[in-house]
Amino acid sequence: MSEGNIIIVSAPSGCGKSTIINALMARGDIDMQFSVSATNRPPREGEVDGVNYHFLSDEEFRREISNDAFIEYEEVYPGRFYGTLKREVERVCGQGHNIVLDIDVKGGINVKKMYGDRALSVFIVPPSVETLRRRLESRATDDKAAIDCRVAKAEYELSFSPMYDCRIVNDNLDEAVENVHDVIVKFIGEV
Ligand code: 5GP
Repeated sequence: MSEGNIIIVSAPSGCGKSTIINALMARGDIDMQFSVSATNRPPREGEVDGVNYHFLSDEEFRREISNDAFIEYEEVYPGRFYGTLKREVERVCGQGHNIVLDIDVKGGINVKKMYGDRALSVFIVPPSVETLRRRLESRATDDKAAIDCRVAKAEYELSFSPMYDCRIVNDNLDEAVENVHDVIVKFIGEV
């Protein structure tokens, strides 16, 4: 049995990355499983341990680092660590399934470097930085300072998008899902 391949999906926050991944998983016609990362951030309402993330204490996360359990890990927000577990990728890919990684830009670039042609890296981009700002404002979950901060971070992250194999614009959600679906199917057919 041949090993499964790796699909990396990254995007600045507010670009609909999780929605797109969830839509693809729900559609279910691509053989791929979600990589459950580890994090030391607390669960949000509705999140389930072992499903959305493996929620670890600071101490547990540090132990996993010293046990060399991660393919990669990043401090995505101050004090908040996220990491892709080797055992997760080995289990899924070892059974011949593809795995989809919802990870930040630095992590995505590192995993692509490690796996080369076995990995497809997809970057979801907003139609423009202005549209992203309007979307964040309409969610009304953040104040102006927080939105400015997210937009600045998004601009920084977008500067890395040329390092990804492909960029998909999320202007219309259904079209974006369709386009991500198509690049994954093409990749799986070619590797
Ligand atoms: P959230 O806290 O909103 O679930 O995720 C915050 C950010 O962490 C997102 O950009 C998400 O893609 C990223 N992230 C989640 N898991 C991992 C991981 O295992 N490694 C890296 N580098 N980033 C991750």
